[in-house]
Amino acid sequence: MTVTVPQVQLRYGDKVLDSGSGGVYEHRNPYTGAVQAVIPLAGAAEIDEAVELAAAQAQAWRRWTPEARRDVLTRFGDLLIEHRQDFADLQALDGGTPTQFGLRIIDNSISWARYYAGWVDKLSGELISTLDSRGYFSYTAPEPYGVIGAIITWNGPVISLGMKVIPALAAGNCVVVKPSEFTPFAPQLYARLLAQAGVPAGVCSILPGGPAAGEALVSHPKVAKVSFTGGPDAARKIMRACAEQLKPAVLELGGKTASIVFPDAGDLEAVAVRAVRDCIGVLAGQGCAVPSRLIVHEDIYDEVVERVTVVAATYKMGDPFDPEVKVGPLINAAAVERVRGMLDRARRDNAGRIVLGGNKARGDLVEKNFIEPTIIVDADPSHEIAQVEIFGPVLLVFKFSTEDEAVALANCTPYGLGANIQSTSLTRVHRVAERLHAGGIYVNGARQNLPHTPFGGVGISGYGKEGGRAGIDEFLHYKTVSIIEPQ
Ligand code: NAD
Repeated sequence: MTVTVPQVQLRYGDKVLDSGSGGVYEHRNPYTGAVQAVIPLAGAAEIDEAVELAAAQAQAWRRWTPEARRDVLTRFGDLLIEHRQDFADLQALDGGTPTQFGLRIIDNSISWARYYAGWVDKLSGELISTLDSRGYFSYTAPEPYGVIGAIITWNGPVISLGMKVIPALAAGNCVVVKPSEFTPFAPQLYARLLAQAGVPAGVCSILPGGPAAGEALVSHPKVAKVSFTGGPDAARKIMRACAEQLKPAVLELGGKTASIVFPDAGDLEAVAVRAVRDCIGVLAGQGCAVPSRLIVHEDIYDEVVERVTVVAATYKMGDPFDPEVKVGPLINAAAVERVRGMLDRARRDNAGRIVLGGNKARGDLVEKNFIEPTIIVDADPSHEIAQVEIFGPVLLVFKFSTEDEAVALANCTPYGLGANIQSTSLTRVHRVAERLHAGGIYVNGARQNLPHTPFGGVGISGYGKEGGRAGIDEFLHYKTVSIIEPQ
């Protein structure tokens, strides 16, 4: 299948630029490896202009009637629906996302847009006290921050945009977004449709750039709050830059999600299908919250290992445009080398037994950026492979005998994004959920990023929430107004 690679330009306000002060990025198709586009990158100059435009629009945008802002965001959701297939195609060009999975991502992003469009006219403060004996009358009023700086990474930019941009706009903020230079195509369409829906020029600008553009955005004095999705190293730098201006930030970082399978998990084939689908089948494992550590009770361990191995072996790797493909390429050659290095060190240190995969793909794919679907059993929980985010199609399996052991294994990394439980016993689920160190607990295949459920981590997985009331509250501050009659 041939999809035309769009020309990327830097657009903000009424400007359409073919080049930017951040230089250019030669974009390689993640599947073919061939250079498919030369991307102009925003630098500090374009970021500065986009932030100034956003700041100039901030008062007008927050004073739109709630109905008008709601209607524009609702119309935007409709446009996303019209362009579902375009988004699936562009995500395949951007990051090698298999189009079948790309459709799931855009459908999810649509539900985030519609959910937060629905919040616009429902925001409210609190009446704190009515006329008390001293004559006080106090209330809180939600107010937008002004300009939000959003920085997102290359894995799933379409969902990150839905999780940040729409609630920020719904709350009455203007937004400047810096997507990764690795994934410029789908974010460009997202920006075009926001404009088409009626979001005024300058209220939301989406400018691809490298880390320097991100630094310029974070340190811009007119950016009142930062919302970041990415890795821990950039997060530390962003926090340091925010500290200079005492600027708040939401940090959505990586994870090492555990999935505990208790003997009362029910249908073990269904458990195995979910385990493989939600790890290896999600962006070839390049997802922040993929359950990459399967912690299985000893009574069912052998059976679960056998079943996940059989299921994973059926996962087809290849061209993201092939509807049968479930595992696309990793984002680039460097990512393949990084994952290969982790697998080699695990082998060298006897940190587990590889029962499936464990290598770069062979055959037709040997020259491309593929790692085979990989299952490692009897993994050493203290080894790098079990402690550090792999970001590849690798599922680790551990054995436990008691509930305490399962909880200790699940909690033994510094991450805390999500944790999964597979059990049909409600009392066990509630008991174990309370003991797991994670921002979200997902039971028996419950989905992690539904728009009405807050999502976000603890520990080195970051802090702050996306989704639900908590997610829009990140883009609001509650002003207290306290009134007393003149004495
Ligand atoms: P990264 O931190 O290197 O880059 C993320 C973004 O930050 C990019 O746009 C990059 O250009 C920018 N950036 C880098 N340095 C910066 C700086 N000093 N100042 C400002 N911006 C800067 O992330 P990555 O390694 O490309 O992405 C993968 C990571 O993202 C993984 O750890 C993954 O788990 C995490 N992630 C988390 C979530 C979540 O919701 N919790 C979702 C997706 C990905």
